[in-house]
Amino acid sequence: MCRVESPAPVTYKCRHTKLIPQQPRVYMCDAADRRGFPCKTPEQTSKGSCHNRLFDCPNCMEKKKRDAKKDGKGPSSGVIGPISSKTGTSITIEA
Ligand SMILES: [Zn+2]
Ligand SMILES: [Zn+2]
Repeated sequence: MCRVESPAPVTYKCRHTKLIPQQPRVYMCDAADRRGFPCKTPEQTSKGSCHNRLFDCPNCMEKKKRDAKKDGKGPSSGVIGPISSKTGTSITIEA
């Protein structure tokens, strides 16, 4: 049976939330692979308790890398807050 992974919000250490995967991802089983298209009723998989709390989101990681390169002295200001606060649909999954 094929499996489809639905987008699920992942909360990062920087408190940003990102949908992973961005679009439903289908994993085709052997039969479907031979056939060339997935089964009619793929099994839903969800990473219910997928928290990436140990890491910053890719955006923040990129930003930190860039900042570090820029002045070469590390972060100068102690407070790092979310730059763009697009609040509205911030979903937090309970483990
Ligand atoms: Zn299948
Ligand atoms: Zn972030």
